[in-house]
This record gives sequence, C-alpha cells and structure tokens, in this order.
Amino acid sequence: MCAQGRLGYGSAFRFSKNYCILLSVKDPIVQAGDPVLRGTAKAVAKKDIGSAKINKIIARMKKALAAEDFGVAIAAPQIGEPLRIFVIAGKAFEPVLKEDQKPLDGGPKQSTLPDHVFINPELARLSKKKKEMSEGCLSVRGKYGTVMRHEKATVKALDENGKPFIYNSSGLIGHIFQHECDHLDGILYTDKALRLEEDIDLKSARKKLKEKHGV
Ligand code: ZN
Repeated sequence: MCAQGRLGYGSAFRFSKNYCILLSVKDPIVQAGDPVLRGTAKAVAKKDIGSAKINKIIARMKKALAAEDFGVAIAAPQIGEPLRIFVIAGKAFEPVLKEDQKPLDGGPKQSTLPDHVFINPELARLSKKKKEMSEGCLSVRGKYGTVMRHEKATVKALDENGKPFIYNSSGLIGHIFQHECDHLDGILYTDKALRLEEDIDLKSARKKLKEKHGV
C-alpha cells in the first residue's frame, strides 16, 4: 500500500563519447496485470517460519518497501512470492501518523520503529462501521481512489519467529490490514474502488476527488 505513486519503469541513460545506451530498469514491485497478484497466496508452513528461505523473502519485502518513500506496507505477492505474508513499515506506526485522520498524505518519513511482519494473517474481527477511505497501491502506480473500509480491524498472525499475536487497530493500521489481506486473496483495491483518479500523488488525487465528488 502506498501514499504516493511513481512511474512503473525507470530509465537509466549512460552517455559516452559517441553513443548512448538506454537501460530499461524493471520495477522491483510486481505491477497489476501479473497473475501472481490475482491468485490466492499459500499459507506458510509452520516448520518453514524462521527458515533461510522465508527469512530471505521477508528481507526482500522489507528492502522493496524501504525503497519506496511513500510505501507503508507490502504483501509477498507484490515481490512475486505467492505466500501469506505482509510487512507494515515502521513509519506507519509513528504516533503522529496514528493521530492524523488523513495519514496517507504524509510525505517521506524517517522512522526508528521496526517494520512489522505478519505471517498467515487472518482478519479476526471487523467493525460494523465503515468509512470511505483514500487508497493507493505500490502495484497500481499512478492511480488513487477511495474504498469503503471497516473503521476497525483485528488481525491474528504469526511473527517472524512463529509466535502468534493479535493486533487490534483503527485508523491507518486497521486500513492497511484490510488492503494487505485482500492482496493475499488476489484482490486489488481497484476492484473495490468507489472512485479512481489517475495521478502521481495522493494529495492532488484527493483534491480532484473532493472537487468532483465531494469526498
Ligand atoms: Zn497494495
């Protein structure tokens, strides 16, 4: 999940005396259209939690997320791994973001808080009350929209060591839980979006949504 978009492909130019080479750099995050984003991700076997293979996948997810100034969370299918794992960036847990009713507007933010890993997460409880919330996704670059989400969500999951935990949250974290659990079931927020805007950042997309629809 992200708070600001970026172009899907970057290009690097290298000039020398008489010629120039264009290198196309593929987006490290899988983009919409790839079947891995549409399948149901597989649960991680308990015996595999803590294994080198799973730890490597988690490390790749954290690295991909850290490279995104506006990324707040990532699910394993977004790096091409169809497994039930998502990671929420430490910066999303900053109290200042929790208090902010419009947290996804936040710009790049340094955080000393660690990233949180959720393995085999399940949405254990959802509030009845729903709210139309702004949303973006690292796998759908350049678009933003609004989705009806439950105001509060409780997730049951395992941590990197296989220890079970429960996390109950409203605001940004509860919102992220719902977006990331959808990824693990092959759902993109664009499937549920009430409104969509093409834009490179959420701030101006929000402005458009407000002008056009009053939300
Ligand atoms: Zn996403």
